[in-house]
Amino acid sequence: MTGLVEGQLEDGTPTRLAVQCRRCGNWLVSAASVDRRLGPTCARHGMTQARIEAEHYPLFEVSDA
Ligand SMILES: [Zn+2]
Repeated sequence: MTGLVEGQLEDGTPTRLAVQCRRCGNWLVSAASVDRRLGPTCARHGMTQARIEAEHYPLFEVSDA
């Protein structure tokens, strides 16, 4: 065993790696979604959330001094 999830069922049906979305728990099977561990919709939400957090917590604070 190599640990790879992709393979074939006994009847030859190809199987693919599937993971659950980190955000909503839906099963993801598309390569891009599996890579992100996020579905397309949740990835958009995540990006929006990251942008909001970046605005609320700036890396640099401007000082008057
Ligand atoms: Zn999701």
